[in-house]
Amino acid sequence: MLKAVLLDISGVLTEDGEALPGAVAAVERLQASGLSLRFLTNTSRRTSAAVCEELQRLGFDVAPAQVFTAPGAIRRHLERHRLIPYLLIHEHLEPEFADLPRGEPNAVVLGDAEQRLDYAHLDAAFRLLLEGAPLLAVGTNRYFRQAGTLHLDVGPFVRALEYAAGIEARVLGKPSGDFFHAVLEDAGVAPGEALMVGDDVECDVAAAMAVGLEACLVQSGKYRPGDESKAPGARCEANLADLVEALLAGR
Ligand SMILES: [Mg+2]
Repeated sequence: MLKAVLLDISGVLTEDGEALPGAVAAVERLQASGLSLRFLTNTSRRTSAAVCEELQRLGFDVAPAQVFTAPGAIRRHLERHRLIPYLLIHEHLEPEFADLPRGEPNAVVLGDAEQRLDYAHLDAAFRLLLEGAPLLAVGTNRYFRQAGTLHLDVGPFVRALEYAAGIEARVLGKPSGDFFHAVLEDAGVAPGEALMVGDDVECDVAAAMAVGLEACLVQSGKYRPGDESKAPGARCEANLADLVEALLAGR
């Protein structure tokens, strides 16, 4: 029985800072249905608090505790393991890590750092990795979509550092199974009782199915025709509004 719905944010609820058509009402219907909702994003340009405030500003009915971001998961990991990070992240994300202990870094945190992903910064991260620092990544997404254009995401940079240092990154956002399990634990449901909704067939849909969730690919955001073939068995709907309509009608 379905007890929880996990919603990817970018490309499902929003695009370019605007709510997608019908998404606000669809979330309202889901919240009213008694299903547990969690909002997931690998965005590495904003803090969890900023993500929640942005959704609320767009009219979405969402509470801070329902928002799970990859940087938030990395921050909890750093605290738990008492690691001091070398932060290769977007400047807007710095507040997420502001009150962690300072000192000689012994972990590399890699996000979508945009202009900071230059040779000097990647080279400094590479040397820390050679000394044994773990590489903590927000995700392995290949690209994201902004203003109608696809752009390089963090994944290609994760792979570059892994290749150079001969190590494997620990991914703490989607598509990591750990990330989905943390969200399910918070919602108090088993994998088979949850539905993940996303526009990224690999990091949202196939990844959730790999840990036992049901999943729905929506044909909004970064969806490209033919993506369905990469996640056989996944549900597919034109957008969130259509999915919610069908779910609440018991289809
Ligand atoms: Mg997305």
